[in-house]
Amino acid sequence: MISLPSRDFLDTPIEEYIISSEKVAHVQVNNSAEHALLVLTKTGYAAIPVLDSKYHFCGLINAQRITDAILGLEHIEYERLPEIRVEDIMQTDFPLIHISERFQRALDLLIDQNFLCVIDDEGMFMGILTRRVILKQLKKQIYQLKK
Ligand code: AMP
Repeated sequence: MISLPSRDFLDTPIEEYIISSEKVAHVQVNNSAEHALLVLTKTGYAAIPVLDSKYHFCGLINAQRITDAILGLEHIEYERLPEIRVEDIMQTDFPLIHISERFQRALDLLIDQNFLCVIDDEGMFMGILTRRVILKQLKKQIYQLKK
C-alpha cells in the first residue's frame, strides 16, 4: 500500500520553491500590447505577469488576449498593437498565493493553473510558483517513500 507524503511536507512554506521576481519576465501596465507580444514571443512563455512601476502585481497577459484585442471582422489588425495598453486587456480574475502560504495550498491551486503569482501583504510581486516545480517536489517525496 502507498502511504501519502507526510503532513510535514505539505506544511512546507512555498517560499522555498518560488522563482524569485528578478528571474521572472514581466511587462508593465502602461506598456503597449506590441511590447508584450514581443516579450512573450522572445521568451516563449505562455503568460507573464503585469506589474506597476512599484512592482505591485496587477494581472497576467498572454498572446491569446492580445490577438483577441486586435481581431477585426475580416483580418487581424496588427497596426493597432502599439496603441493598445496592456492594462486594458490583461487578465485579472485568477487566484494569487501569499508568500506565507504552505505547499498544500499551492498544490490545490495548481491543479487548475500552470503557475501562480506570489504576492506579499502589500500586493508586491514576489515571484511565481510553477506546476513543474511543485510536481518535481511531489515526485521526490513519492520516490523517497519507495526507499
Ligand atoms: P514551466 O513550468 O517552466 O513550463 O512554466 C510554466 C509557465 O510559467 C510558463 O509558460 C510561463 O507562463 C510561466 N513562467 C515560468 N518561468 C517564467 C519566467 N522566468 N518568467 C516569466 N514567466 C515564467
